[in-house]
Amino acid sequence: MSENDPIWPAVAAARQWLDLSNGTLPLEMTCRILKVTEEAGEAAQAWIGFLGQNPRKGVTHSREEVAAELADVAFTALVAIASLGLDPRDALTGCATKVQDRFERPWPPLP
Ligand SMILES: [Mg+2]
Repeated sequence: MSENDPIWPAVAAARQWLDLSNGTLPLEMTCRILKVTEEAGEAAQAWIGFLGQNPRKGVTHSREEVAAELADVAFTALVAIASLGLDPRDALTGCATKVQDRFERPWPPLP
């Protein structure tokens, strides 16, 4: 990701649109965070559809559709972070750094 990616302007635009449409009271912030769960459910539905787990429906989704639903989860989370008045780039960088640090530690942990 770079500064020229369309991600960050789109996140800012989505947050602004929601702020103007729904306000910024705590209930609205709650809904934006819950929206991540809604999108995660859609990703799970797509994966189940990819596997064809429901014999009545068969295979209903492609791998690309699953990826698109997972991207919805990530984007929705970034909008929720921005809605908290925080920079989602910083939050994402902090998360990536935390994960990377885990890989750089000895395993199993030294006593
Ligand atoms: Mg979705």
